[in-house]
Amino acid sequence: MTTTQYKRIILKLSGEALSGNQGFGIEPSVINSVAQQVKEVAELGVEVAVVVGGGNIWRGKGGAEMGMDRATADYMGMLATVMNSLALQDSLESYGIPTRVQTSIEMRQVAEPYIRRKAIRHLEKKRVVIFAGGTGNPYFSTDTTAALRAAEIEADVILMAKNNVDGVYNDDPKVNKDAVKYDELSYLDVLNEGLGVMDSTASTLCMDNDIPLIVFSITENGNIKKVVEGNNIGTIVRGK
Ligand code: UDP
Repeated sequence: MTTTQYKRIILKLSGEALSGNQGFGIEPSVINSVAQQVKEVAELGVEVAVVVGGGNIWRGKGGAEMGMDRATADYMGMLATVMNSLALQDSLESYGIPTRVQTSIEMRQVAEPYIRRKAIRHLEKKRVVIFAGGTGNPYFSTDTTAALRAAEIEADVILMAKNNVDGVYNDDPKVNKDAVKYDELSYLDVLNEGLGVMDSTASTLCMDNDIPLIVFSITENGNIKKVVEGNNIGTIVRGK
């Protein structure tokens, strides 16, 4: 039996959240901590889908800044998310959590293709589903992927896990010691004040579909469970 208010969640993990302090690549101890935290939540009976980013390996914008064609650079970023997704699947399964990776860019030897109804079926069977490959389209982000998949699978909330930041602030707390953390915001606040919660495409999609978002730090073990159990440890962003 679940002791939480959420039946189905999307966990958004940026690539950076998997790289730990090294800032690049995958840090096994970090990915194992994430997997253990996901396990705790799955054991509460919550259906967990994960959208994984790729910025720890490659970002399309960075490639374009180096003179590459933007769409090609973006496809490289989408492939990076698949590598991260496989690493997370491997870790989750080592903790005994049945996990399926679905990718929006087909590569059948590696992962299932993204099929919405099949993803929902996996979730109903209490398998963790990892959505890899972003939306499958250049010029988008994995934040937008999280918003899109949340709408498609009717998730109750998006949990946006951050590395070393515990919510949304009015200024960068690492630079400005007087920065103030918000407990609650609307998507309009995020858009109007240009807060770096997620990109504007993702924010708009969440706002239009009334999908709440909780920004929190994944650095402390057990935080995903705390959020799912309704503890106010981050910032909640709502539609209205
Ligand atoms: N990307 C894309 N379309 C998508 C999702 C991602 O083109 O639907 C590319 C884009 O180049 C992006 C990269 O994949 O920079 C990695 O994703 P993102 O930057 O969202 O990862 P994160 O910041 O969460 O690590």
